[in-house]
Amino acid sequence: MTAPLRTANGELTHRSGLFIEITGASGATGWGEASPYPGLSPESMEELMGDWVGRLASQLGSAEVGPSTLPGSDGREWPPTLVGAVSGALADLDANGSGVPMADVLVPGSSASSVEVNALIDGLDPDAVGQQTLLALDRGIGVVKIKVGARPWHQDLARVQAACTAMATSAASCDEAIGRVRLDANGGWDVAEARRALAECDELGIELVEDPVADPVAAAQIGKEFATPVAVDAPVTSLYAAQHLVGLDGVDVLVIKPAVCGGPHAAVGIAEVAVEAGRDWFVTSFIDTGVGRMTAVHAAIAGGSLGGRLACGLATGHLMAPDVAGASLGVPIDGHISVSAAPGHGVTPDRDSLELIASWESP
Ligand SMILES: [Mg+2]
Repeated sequence: MTAPLRTANGELTHRSGLFIEITGASGATGWGEASPYPGLSPESMEELMGDWVGRLASQLGSAEVGPSTLPGSDGREWPPTLVGAVSGALADLDANGSGVPMADVLVPGSSASSVEVNALIDGLDPDAVGQQTLLALDRGIGVVKIKVGARPWHQDLARVQAACTAMATSAASCDEAIGRVRLDANGGWDVAEARRALAECDELGIELVEDPVADPVAAAQIGKEFATPVAVDAPVTSLYAAQHLVGLDGVDVLVIKPAVCGGPHAAVGIAEVAVEAGRDWFVTSFIDTGVGRMTAVHAAIAGGSLGGRLACGLATGHLMAPDVAGASLGVPIDGHISVSAAPGHGVTPDRDSLELIASWESP
């Protein structure tokens, strides 16, 4: 990565993952990415490279699989990132075979071609956070997300206030500065600290707080007590989980990660569940390469026709150094990421750089 990313789950300095390329009977191909996130993913890279990859290859070779169905797992549950990779590759294959952008196979007739994004702010102190916020605004990005929960709340509060001040200085009116700063605690607070933080978020006009506490039932309870909307992210592991979560009063927003919730088809299904339940939603990347990131961009664009979509966490390409796939794609312009009319998700990993990266030792 270009710089370490500090969250309540620890410090992220590098990403390891694998690409899956699937060739269909017609000769069309599709690419997917599985990059387990240390501290968040139940599976490790070692487990994926162990027997899972072999199982997958033998099952894909023999089974009839469609773009939204996975091969059978002979009784064991597939690791989430592998499900995301296979589903993503199959959706890419389907779209490539039909010659249409992936968004079009996810929601036929998706006419939109861009999605509003937020900037991820990870500055360690208030000055850095203020500067990063101004930089985001300069780049046309109007929503910033600050990672909190890795340090005591009073230290995070100063960082959050710095972002709000930067927003207020550049906004034409006070109203315009409200609801443009969101926080992500990654479940790092206990209930008492979350209550303290949310009370101050109410005063600051924070857009939403993601995973204030790790337990979604406790997060929902906090959501009921405060005006600031509460979003759940880590608990959104599947369509089934999403159906359960929207049954909890106080869960206001669902965060959808195609990389771990079952792939791009499942992501759109979860957006539908959210909208039907009167909740907002947004899609985020998994701090992955262009393959995973552009799959998420297409899912966000496809789901946009359903309504309820907030700015999405997809402007993360610059965090990867180097991005072996699709570095030039998905760069936000005026706060939006656009896709072209190219088929699939538009990313084919460059084989030379794949060989180069595969030869690196992970730190
Ligand atoms: Mg999050």
